[in-house]
Amino acid sequence: MEYKEFNSVLEAHVALAAMPEAGTVYRIWDDGSSIYAVVTGDIDDACTEWCEAGDWSEGGKAIITVRYQSVGIDPDGDDMDGDERGSVDVEVGDDPDAIGECGTDDDDHDWQAPEFLGGCRENPGVWCKGGTIMEFLTVCSKCGTYRHQNDYGVQRNPGQADEVSYREADERSLAWVAEQE
Ligand SMILES: [Zn+2]
Repeated sequence: MEYKEFNSVLEAHVALAAMPEAGTVYRIWDDGSSIYAVVTGDIDDACTEWCEAGDWSEGGKAIITVRYQSVGIDPDGDDMDGDERGSVDVEVGDDPDAIGECGTDDDDHDWQAPEFLGGCRENPGVWCKGGTIMEFLTVCSKCGTYRHQNDYGVQRNPGQADEVSYREADERSLAWVAEQE
């Protein structure tokens, strides 16, 4: 465990004073919630661990920016911002299950990029969307399911994670599957 959570900065400092090891009290927050924590290890690891402990089972993948600020207490027991502050980007959530006859695991399928998909002349199924943003379309040679991937590269917007989605086989992909046998 990289951190221990407290309801107030005062409680956190009282606990820290009683601990044998050295640590720092931080305020850690994202867009949705905020905690006080005593961190005895690396602050980046603590922010990551706190963020990943949340419930991200809905909404697919996202990148959450977690911010931190070291905090002391003034003589009245109130927050007093320290010198240390920063942020950590944490990727959370899961890709959706695959669809189609091969199975719900992406690895169950045999993804290929045949020319009928379109895309650049040299790279079927690949589109450059400007800058570092790329789109990839592949199709399974066994069941004809399509897989669509976005790769945002370094120009991603805040919160934007690479995405994968699936689309059901259609006449065109099934005809291509039949040609493969
Ligand atoms: Zn398949």
